[in-house]
Amino acid sequence: MYLLIITITISQEHLRRLETIAKERYPAEACALLEGNTRFVDSQSNEVASVRGIVPMRNADESVYTFRIDPNDLISAYKEISSRKLEVVGIFHSHSSEAFPSLTDTKYMELNPVVWLIYSTLSHSFAAYILDNMMIKVNLESSSLHHAS
Ligand SMILES: [Zn+2]
Repeated sequence: MYLLIITITISQEHLRRLETIAKERYPAEACALLEGNTRFVDSQSNEVASVRGIVPMRNADESVYTFRIDPNDLISAYKEISSRKLEVVGIFHSHSSEAFPSLTDTKYMELNPVVWLIYSTLSHSFAAYILDNMMIKVNLESSSLHHAS
């Protein structure tokens, strides 16, 4: 079966928080895991990833050009996320250049086939991608956090 995430939904509040994290870490790249869940949206088995929370991570590279998450940090974050019955639906990081995956990103996107959300501190904008043989731009849908419950 062919599965593809075509849309990621994230609240304005979460986007603002990611923007703040990116600005705090500037000029180094900031990174975070996006926790949430995925659901099917149509008969072609296309999926939507919904972000429910943000788990800020430390950039072990402390670099302006790359980011790296320490494996131990990653393991504890995954444990924390699964204890909340959620999954990692995306990886966030910031660029001081445009919000487009670098060559290094492309290499890691192959290993981590989730949505990659990038914030550009240059153009103050977000863009999301997933690598599925080719680079695919993922729709970014955002709304305010309103829960009827
Ligand atoms: Zn990057």
